[in-house]
Amino acid sequence: MTLADFPRYPLLLGPSPVHPLERLTAHLGGAQVWAKREDVNSGIAFGGNKTRKLEYLVADALAQGADTLISIGGVQSNHTRQVAAAAARAGLKAVLVQESWVDWTDPMYDKVGNIQLSRILGADIRMVEAGFGVGFKESWENAVKEIEADGGKPYAIPAGGSDHRLGGLGFANWIVELEAQEAELGVFFDTVVVCSVTGSTQAGMVAGAALSGKPRRILGIDGSAKPAETRDQITRIARATAELIGAGEIREVELDERYHAGIYGIPDESTLDAIRTLARLEGVLTDPVYEGKSMAGLIDLVSRGEISRDSNVLFAHLGGQPALNGYTSVL
Ligand SMILES: *Cc1c(COP(=O)(O)O)cnc(C)c1O
Repeated sequence: MTLADFPRYPLLLGPSPVHPLERLTAHLGGAQVWAKREDVNSGIAFGGNKTRKLEYLVADALAQGADTLISIGGVQSNHTRQVAAAAARAGLKAVLVQESWVDWTDPMYDKVGNIQLSRILGADIRMVEAGFGVGFKESWENAVKEIEADGGKPYAIPAGGSDHRLGGLGFANWIVELEAQEAELGVFFDTVVVCSVTGSTQAGMVAGAALSGKPRRILGIDGSAKPAETRDQITRIARATAELIGAGEIREVELDERYHAGIYGIPDESTLDAIRTLARLEGVLTDPVYEGKSMAGLIDLVSRGEISRDSNVLFAHLGGQPALNGYTSVL
């Protein structure tokens, strides 16, 4: 099977926009910086990178005759909000296990932002006490069993839609989509900067790059603060995805560990600076959990010349702005 043969349930509006960040580029004084915008990729509940992955998973769920999507994430998970929206669109139920991954005491943290949206979208939300982790979880397996016991047909989607046979396909196809946009624009992005936590976004890109063979650097910025586990997960998913789509050997996974601010879900000064810098130069918003950290990485790497001055850099903006409402104590 080739990548184009895998069925997709349509959730995206079309190719996500690619555009230059001219004022950020001028501010940094080198490297041409552009963005590809997964934060505006869909008309469904603010979209984001998980919506792109879910096109493949929802098609599979429907093919299997499932009636309920079940998934897991932190309280302010963008992923579970996108599962809730995709389920609504596809006429399925959604059960969401929301764990206390982030020790954050903003007064409205468990009421506003993503969790509010998931409630409006009609998801069945189960709040659970459990720490951060991207692997399989007991609370989640229990919920799957419960749905089955009630006669439902659950379709289980792991954290971030990542540790799943089809989890890497969305962003493998992102590379195919990007290459068509590059041909149209007459640019080649030698470096892609992407935030990684559960790993299938970067893994998909790495598999897509192996399929294409173009010498492109896929530079992950770790947001998990457990970079060894994240790097392993990215590598495993990239290899499995490459095999699934008939791509060759993958290149070594590159994950920069300097910008995660020490803990998942909590920003440091450099994260907050990056959020304000991009907002004030470009009017583009990023969040304190993911994109503010990868933007902090991009700004620092270009400033230090670790990404060279003659580079064309593409910032993969993966969404996440709804979580901003849970961070009023720092923003
Ligand atoms: C989930 C998420 C990421 C990380 O993507 P993974 O595929 O989990 O590595 C980055 N940014 C945002 C906004 C996300 O929601």
